[in-house]
Amino acid sequence: MPSHTNARMEISPTHCEVAIIGAGFGGIGMAIRLKRAGRHDFVIIEQADRIGGTWRDNTYPGCTCDIPSHLYSLSFAPKADWSRRYASQPEIHRYLEDCVDRFGLRPHLRLRVSLKKATFDSSAGLWRMQTDPGPDLAARLLVLATGALHRPAIPSLRGIESFRGAMFHSARWDHAVEIRGKRVAVIGTGASAVQLVPHVAAQAAHLALFQRTPAWVLPKPDPPIGPRRRWAMRHVPLLRRALRAWLYWAHEVRALGFVRFPELMAGPERQARSHAKRQLRDDGLRALLTPSDRMGCKRVLLSDDFYPSLNRPNVQLVSAPITDVLPDRLVTADGAEYQVDILVFATGFRATEPIDPIEVVGRDGVTLSAAWRDGVRAHLGLAVAGFPNLFLLGGPNTGLGHNSVLFMLEAQIHHVLRCLRRLRLRKALSIEVRRDVQAAFARRLDRWMGRTVWLSGCRSWYLDRNGRNTTLWPGFSVGYWSRVRRASARKYRFRAMH
Ligand code: NAP
Repeated sequence: MPSHTNARMEISPTHCEVAIIGAGFGGIGMAIRLKRAGRHDFVIIEQADRIGGTWRDNTYPGCTCDIPSHLYSLSFAPKADWSRRYASQPEIHRYLEDCVDRFGLRPHLRLRVSLKKATFDSSAGLWRMQTDPGPDLAARLLVLATGALHRPAIPSLRGIESFRGAMFHSARWDHAVEIRGKRVAVIGTGASAVQLVPHVAAQAAHLALFQRTPAWVLPKPDPPIGPRRRWAMRHVPLLRRALRAWLYWAHEVRALGFVRFPELMAGPERQARSHAKRQLRDDGLRALLTPSDRMGCKRVLLSDDFYPSLNRPNVQLVSAPITDVLPDRLVTADGAEYQVDILVFATGFRATEPIDPIEVVGRDGVTLSAAWRDGVRAHLGLAVAGFPNLFLLGGPNTGLGHNSVLFMLEAQIHHVLRCLRRLRLRKALSIEVRRDVQAAFARRLDRWMGRTVWLSGCRSWYLDRNGRNTTLWPGFSVGYWSRVRRASARKYRFRAMH
């Protein structure tokens, strides 16, 4: 692997070619590709004191990825020695930190700096940014890699402010709080809950798990990767690439059921039912945990230890809605009361809201929040008409339910680089997606979305308040890639220097 630290240069604190906002997978990936393209004039602005995005924030016990690591890693920053099929949060976070060192990104990082406002200066073709703390920064290109899953959603439960015990969200795990021997309540049964519940159940005196809607759970065989396999992965790169390709296509075929023929989900539903039958001893419990909606409508969960943890005598599944929170207990609609020392919200994220609190002001003084008042929209999820020289990574409708989202991020990063090159070759001040192109794309997206499983009638974080899916790509990821990689110049308007 070549070292990219040799390009020693001063990075101006006030001017740069590319400003990347957010140092998660998207921002780090963008920075690596810029370096490898020989472009060193960029900064990464990160409001936290460490890089890592969602893999920095989520430290709850049992936090792992549900996409195999040889696929859930950057293709241009391969790692041969993943320790198991599905890496845990610490290993993934370490991988990202390693990428920062390996590709010489440290000098570009501005940690503990948050972007407050970015305004496009049309005459100069620059984004002018106010940061906290300063100094102000000007950049040709603004790349928002702020992610969708980082603003915790906390339900507004009556009396919540009166609760006297410890209380935190799964993405803000309070490691100072001792679980052992305590009475714990966990609200939510989504992807985070199924991972943390087995660990909490093993330590708590009592665990009450509050379920609003059950989710489909499939097996998650997670063998460690032994030294011989790791050796082979390191020394036979072709093998690593072949494994990655195999994992990619094995996931990709699943899109058929998600985006085209939801009835195909009947097969995996049978598999999930027999998984539950094998793992849950109590018929009543199994009935409570069996969803009535089509598999895939909500995110499909993978776990081998969630159901067994519910068999434990100290664990109670509660399906009655919570009506009140009292200083030391929760009350449900059926009048039952649950004594609680620690309250954990595994209630997910506000994923469909625009990028508040960053104020982004485009060409005509219009803010991105105003442009998105009726719902977030972007051409290919990455460019917005009225906002020249702005690109989004992990933007609207670029998430996946069936494959690694890093594949989508890599395609977007490639697109941004192509656009940057075009901008330079044409000696243009700005590049902006055409409004008619964005509108035509939105119409196509809505048409495709209509046949997906996500609109088959369930509540999920994929949908915004109008019931529109603004988070997931309604097709094969390879289809997205083929659209994005072209970065056709005809779809953009360039403004020349005078
Ligand atoms: P989530 O999937 O949105 O699940 C939230 C859970 O909280 C749901 O069970 C929801 O019930 C419940 N809930 C929300 N508000 C509630 C209320 N007022 N009362 C009772 N229950 C309530 O959130 P998440 O588990 O944090 O996962 C979010 C996303 O993060 C995942 O879908 C995934 O993309 C990502 N993630 C990935 C991994 C991974 O392994 N790669 C791991 C964790 C998270 P309803 O279903 O009824 O709404």
